[in-house]
Amino acid sequence: MSEVIEAPGRQRGDAGEAARIGHWIEGALVPGESGRSGPVYNPATGEQTSAVDFATVDEVGHAVQVAKEAFTTWRALSLSRRTELFFRIRKLVDEHREDLAKFLTAEHGKVLSDAKGEVARGIEVIEYCCGIPELLKGDFSEQASTGIDVYSIRQPLGVVAGITPFNFPAMVPMWMWAPALACGNTFVLKPSEKDPSASLYTAELLKEAGVPDGVFNVVNGDKVAVDAILEHPEIRAVSFVGSTPIARYVYETATRHGKRCQALGGAKNHMIVLPDADVDMAADAAVSAAYGSAGERCMAISQVVAVGDVADRLVEAITKRIPDVKVGDGMDPSSEMGPLVTREHRDRVASYVEGAPDEGATVVVDGRESSPEGQGFWLGVSLLDNVTPEMRCYQDEIFGPVLGITRVPTYDEALRLVNENPYGNGTAIFTRDGGVARQFQFDVQAGMVGINVPIPVPVAYYSFGGWKSSLFGDSHVYGPEGITFYTRGKVVTSRWPDPATSRVDLGFPQTR
Ligand code: NAD
Repeated sequence: MSEVIEAPGRQRGDAGEAARIGHWIEGALVPGESGRSGPVYNPATGEQTSAVDFATVDEVGHAVQVAKEAFTTWRALSLSRRTELFFRIRKLVDEHREDLAKFLTAEHGKVLSDAKGEVARGIEVIEYCCGIPELLKGDFSEQASTGIDVYSIRQPLGVVAGITPFNFPAMVPMWMWAPALACGNTFVLKPSEKDPSASLYTAELLKEAGVPDGVFNVVNGDKVAVDAILEHPEIRAVSFVGSTPIARYVYETATRHGKRCQALGGAKNHMIVLPDADVDMAADAAVSAAYGSAGERCMAISQVVAVGDVADRLVEAITKRIPDVKVGDGMDPSSEMGPLVTREHRDRVASYVEGAPDEGATVVVDGRESSPEGQGFWLGVSLLDNVTPEMRCYQDEIFGPVLGITRVPTYDEALRLVNENPYGNGTAIFTRDGGVARQFQFDVQAGMVGINVPIPVPVAYYSFGGWKSSLFGDSHVYGPEGITFYTRGKVVTSRWPDPATSRVDLGFPQTR
């Protein structure tokens, strides 16, 4: 069933040799020169489909230089022209959303319907950026002092960079490049080395839309490329999305090198279910949010906190739904959940299920027993009950199709668990009580809160970001905070004076 997609950056080698994926610099594909590369797999078959070149410091430097040269013209492009271009980008990405989605399924493994959903949410960010003239409007104060007007403007930073994770290979880059470009910056993207093709395909679409060469560049690579970005003096800002240890490292290194940085990290999203909740609705939500995209979402629900006597009913309702989750090749329209991204990751996720009984948890459903046959990186869905906070399966971000249930007697205890967790990305509460839900929204320490909504990813005109170890830096991504992040403010105080009023005055300027 698995369909191999030909990525734009691929250059076939000799028979038997994996196709190579290079970089995109100055509007063209460029083969890598380092001699270092990493394997890209089709997770549904376990086959290596290509090898992605890893950039050297010099190759990153070349991309930055090209972006720097493109900046002068790009930032001077009128807002109306940039808007026109963004409408063209939107149209092209929309027309090719299915192709883009196929790259995601081929390299990430997520099912095609989910991949299309990812692209759709990315397109919403592009649409938001079509309104860039409105978003960049400044303030104006006439007659701030006699004959003096004051106004504010926001200007682009210059060359900015994005470093992205494997789990949203199209959408997360769109969170970054769309607002960055709309604001007048030029961009260097370092996608995940596990699924780089969507970024190269995006580069082709941007070129076709009319984005000038050098404005958008892709360098593939590993830590060498990341460090080159973090240390390059011409890169003004870095956006990062990935795991917490790397997010912390990126934030510390980028800021030490004088850059603005927003670094989004990992998560352990809790879903609280109160005794008065609609159990069927909560069970549907838990199964969808825990196992969708094989749990490889930073907003996945990985921990349900069942309050009081709802626990037995909820576990039963979730367990009943699990056999219906169809695990299979993402290209098969009947599949609801695909494989995990790599064999190592699959084994790591399975180790939490294996270790759960020794920790004292109850394995209600063991996903290892329902994994499809074959060499793909398969793991069925697992449900662990009686999970407590000192267990490894509670503390770690598993990032796979493993849902834990923790039983607590009261709402206060449930809230305490969420607030004491080191992560603070998303959280959700399921209840029929509006007063408790409102109190939860007031008390909870997380950046994105769902009330009877399990994956509360904000719409494109709000900003996305967590609290605590889920975000380093003070800016969330996309939406209004994205526009602020990719621009800096300037305030102009202006006078067109009557020469007759000109005089020397050494005092501090007064407004009255
Ligand atoms: P990752 O941290 O391993 O990789 C992210 C990026 O960092 C990749 O481009 C990778 O090449 C680079 N990188 C990896 N190791 C590095 C190192 N030692 N030094 C420098 N760069 C390095 O993350 P991942 O496995 O690709 O993605 C999954 C993680 O991302 C999960 O923790 C998930 O929660 C998180 N995530 C968070 C959000 C969010 O919005 N908070 C969104 C998506 C994913």
